[in-house]
Amino acid sequence: MRDLLVEQLQDVYSAESQIIKALPKMVKAASNEQLKQAFAKHLSETQTQKEKLDKVFELMNVSPGRHKCKAMEGLVEESKEMIEQEGEPEVIDAGLIASAQRIEHYEIAAYGTARVYAKQLGEMKVEKILSEILQQEKDTDVALTELALSTVNIEAEGVEGEE
Ligand code: FE
Ligand code: FE
Ligand code: FE
Repeated sequence: MRDLLVEQLQDVYSAESQIIKALPKMVKAASNEQLKQAFAKHLSETQTQKEKLDKVFELMNVSPGRHKCKAMEGLVEESKEMIEQEGEPEVIDAGLIASAQRIEHYEIAAYGTARVYAKQLGEMKVEKILSEILQQEKDTDVALTELALSTVNIEAEGVEGEE
């Protein structure tokens, strides 16, 4: 079980590293100023999350390893396709939120599971750190939903399609 937790943590560590590389491109690609800010905010949170995971590996006395999260590779690839799409900026913004929320949901699943394992193993400091990160991922997801519903999707809907 402990090995499984370490593997899960190494996977999400790779995921966070990939997100740190991808988010600046999403900041650039976003047209809506609030969306830009939301991505920028989460970039700085993600950098902190990676540092928190370094602390977790230290607490557990294991290395972050060199494993690559293939799911995040795919999700980042899809977000790149969205960035490179031609189209109205309002619609691209809605698509960027869709990509970002897929990423957040992957992270929520990862931290949700890892946190339960840590608790079961009596790693209470680790559990606390993972819960903090999980909360940030959930908050980000909620913020993106709110931004979509309040602004971005409405602006996207207002764009006339080419007939
Ligand atoms: Fe994260
Ligand atoms: Fe993975
Ligand atoms: Fe995240």
